[in-house]
Amino acid sequence: MQTPKNIAIIGSGLVGSLLSIYLKKHGHKVTIFDRRPDIRTVQFSGRSINLAMSNRGWKALAEIGLEEEVKKIAIPLYQRALHVNDSPLYFQKYGKENEAIWSISRGRLNRKMIDLAEGFGVDFRFNEKVWDIELPEAKIYTGKSEKSKWKEYKFDIVFGCDGAFSRIRHKMQRRSRFDYSQDFIDVGYKELTIPPNEDGSHRLDKNSFHIWPRGKFMLIAMPNIDGSFTCTLFLPFEGEVSFENITSKGEAKAFFKKYFPNVRKEIEGLTKSFMKNPTSAMVTMKCYPWTYWDKVALVGDAAHAVVPFYGQGMNAGFEDISVLNHLMEELGDDWEAIFERYQKERKPNADAIAELSYRNFVEMSSKTADLNFMLQKKIEKRFAQKHPDKWIPVYSRVTFSDRPYTEALAIGDHQEHIMQEIMQMPSIQKIWDSDQVEQRMLQLLGY
Ligand SMILES: Cc1cc2nc3c(=O)[nH]c(=O)nc-3n(C[C@H](O)[C@H](O)[C@H](O)COP(=O)(O)OP(=O)(O)OC[C@H]3O[C@@H](n4cnc5c(N)ncnc54)[C@H](O)[C@@H]3O)c2cc1C
Repeated sequence: MQTPKNIAIIGSGLVGSLLSIYLKKHGHKVTIFDRRPDIRTVQFSGRSINLAMSNRGWKALAEIGLEEEVKKIAIPLYQRALHVNDSPLYFQKYGKENEAIWSISRGRLNRKMIDLAEGFGVDFRFNEKVWDIELPEAKIYTGKSEKSKWKEYKFDIVFGCDGAFSRIRHKMQRRSRFDYSQDFIDVGYKELTIPPNEDGSHRLDKNSFHIWPRGKFMLIAMPNIDGSFTCTLFLPFEGEVSFENITSKGEAKAFFKKYFPNVRKEIEGLTKSFMKNPTSAMVTMKCYPWTYWDKVALVGDAAHAVVPFYGQGMNAGFEDISVLNHLMEELGDDWEAIFERYQKERKPNADAIAELSYRNFVEMSSKTADLNFMLQKKIEKRFAQKHPDKWIPVYSRVTFSDRPYTEALAIGDHQEHIMQEIMQMPSIQKIWDSDQVEQRMLQLLGY
C-alpha cells in the first residue's frame, strides 16, 4: 500500500477518469480538473463518436473490475464487412472464434467513467482550465483566460491527461533536452451518421466493422446501441477527390452517389451530416521525457498521440495506466522510480504503435488497389489459416493480445521481409497457392 498523496489529474477524458479510479484504489486523494463542463450535463449534440475497444483496453478495465459494467454499453464486432464496388458484400472474420473488437460510444463511455470515478470519491472541478504548471512544485494555475487572475493549487503529484495538445506537456517542452515532434497527415475525417430503422433496429449488420475502401479515401461505420451507426469518412484535404472540392450539398450528394452506390438509401442522411459536421485533422505526436522527477507525468494522448488507423489510441492510454498500476504495486512510495520505469517501458511501445498506425494509413490509402500487395495478403492469409501457430498476423498481435507493441512491430517487419522474398519467386502469380510457396515460407521461418 502506498502512503496517501494529494494528486491532481488534468483532463477528465477517458484516460484521466480511468487513472483517477486506479489512484483512488491505491488510497490517494484525487482531484480532476477539466476545462470543459461536466459531459454528463451537456445536452447531446446529435454527434455520436465511437471507438473500438480491444484487449489492452479491456484488460485495464478488468483489473479494477469494470469490464463487465462497460461491456453493457458496447457491441462486439466479430468481422470486417467489406463493401467493394461491383462485388457482393464480403465478410472477413477478425481471428479465432469469438475474437472481437467492441464498438462503444466515446461520450457514453466517458460519462460512465466519470460516474464510476465519482462513486470512488474522486473530486471533479469542471470548467476549470489549467493554464500553467510549476513542475518542481507540482503547482497548477487555473483561470478564465490566459490574462485573467489565476487560482493556484499545490499538489504532491500532477498527471497530465490533457490530450494531444496538452498544456502540461507544453510547459515541459520549454525545458532543455525535451524531444518533441508532431506530424499531421494530409487526410482529414468527418463523422457521419446512419440512423436506425423505424423499429429501432440497425440498418447494416450490427456485429461487423463496415469498411468501404476506395483507394485514397474510405468510409467506415461502427454500430451504436441505439440502432444508429457512426460513420467516419477519411478523405484528403486537397486534391481531385477531397474535402476542398466538396463544398455544397449537391457536390456531397454526387460524391456519395458516385463512390458509395450501395448506401444509396442513406445518402440524404450522410449528405446532411457531411454539411453539418466539422472536418478534423489527424496527428502523430511524440515526445520525451514523459515525467518530471517524482512530481509530474504525462499519460495517454498527452504523451503519445497516434493516427487512428489501428484503433489503438485509447487502448494504448489505458495500457499506460495498467503499467503504472503494476509499478505502484511493485515500487510502493518510490514515485521517482515508478515514473522512470513507466516512461522507459512505455516510450518504445508508444513509438511502435505510432509507426504501426501510420503504416496502416499508408497501406489503406495507397496499397489497397495494388495487385501485388493484394496477392501478398492472399498468400499470408492462406498460410496463417494453415499454420495459425506459426504466422499470427500483426493486426491480431496488436488487437487481440497484450504482448508489447514493440514485439508486434518487430515480428511484423520479419514477416514482411519473408514476404518480400516470396513475392520474388518466379511465376508467383501462378503458384501462390502451391506447396512450393508454403514450403519456402516454412523454410524462411526456420522450420
Ligand atoms: C477519428 C478518431 C478515431 C479514433 N478511434 C479510436 C479507436 O477506435 N480506438 C482507440 O483506442 N482509440 C481511438 N482514437 C484515439 C482516442 O480517441 C484517444 O486516444 C483518446 O481519446 C485519448 O484520451 P485522453 O483522455 O488521453 O485524451 P482526450 O480524450 O483528448 O481528453 C483530454 C481531456 O483534457 C481536457 N483538457 C485539455 N486541456 C486542458 C487544460 N488545459 N485544462 C483542463 N483540462 C484540459 C479536455 O477537455 C479533455 O477532457 C481515435 C481518435 C480519433 C481522432
